[in-house]
Amino acid sequence: MAEIKVPVVRNILQANERLASENRRRFDEAGIFVINLMSSPGAGKTSLLEKTIETLAGRMGIAVIEGDLQSSRDAERIQKKGVQAVQINTEGGCHLDGNMIQIAMDSIDLSGVDLLIIENVGNLVCPAEFNLGEHEKITMLSVAEGDDKPVKYPLMFQICSVLLVNKIDLLPYTDCDVEKIRQTSRQLNPGGLVFEISCRTGEGFEPWLSWIENKVGEHRKNRSGAAPHADKS
Ligand code: MG
Ligand code: ZN
Repeated sequence: MAEIKVPVVRNILQANERLASENRRRFDEAGIFVINLMSSPGAGKTSLLEKTIETLAGRMGIAVIEGDLQSSRDAERIQKKGVQAVQINTEGGCHLDGNMIQIAMDSIDLSGVDLLIIENVGNLVCPAEFNLGEHEKITMLSVAEGDDKPVKYPLMFQICSVLLVNKIDLLPYTDCDVEKIRQTSRQLNPGGLVFEISCRTGEGFEPWLSWIENKVGEHRKNRSGAAPHADKS
């Protein structure tokens, strides 16, 4: 039976890759920098978005796509911050895919958007396998989850550009060893960045916010760089 199952999974992933590259083309044409934010449930993804938007909303156009199994609670939280937020309900599905993003994009006005953040379904496993067309993957881990997660769920920590270690304010109340997280992360993903943050206190946010601002700047440049095509006479 395993011989049958493997090609089926491969076909699903290949079909998803096609949709993801269509999404990417659309993002690039619009000059929008896109992040795919992943973590287990409760690590603090929506709180990260709230805190990030509070600081950056005055400096750039932001839109959010929220993925959850049920409810529109998270999109409502984000809308309260004054930015566009679209909720995808996967109705039991444990990850977002390229097709869901395509559908959600129809409800977003892209004009004036510089940064699109996609909050994936809380799950440390299969979101890592489904590209959405994003430019960068961000993995978030809270210190309350323990320092063994990168060893147990390596793919999620291998593929991310940035690992956010959240709830750093709770460190004194846990046995979590952040140095161990950093070490495993370095082994799995030598080029990856690690930022320690607290979405509750705002501690450690500066490097994270500057990283986003730099990326948004690069993508804006590409957008204005698209103009010379019109010169061809
Ligand atoms: Mg959430
Ligand atoms: Zn899944």
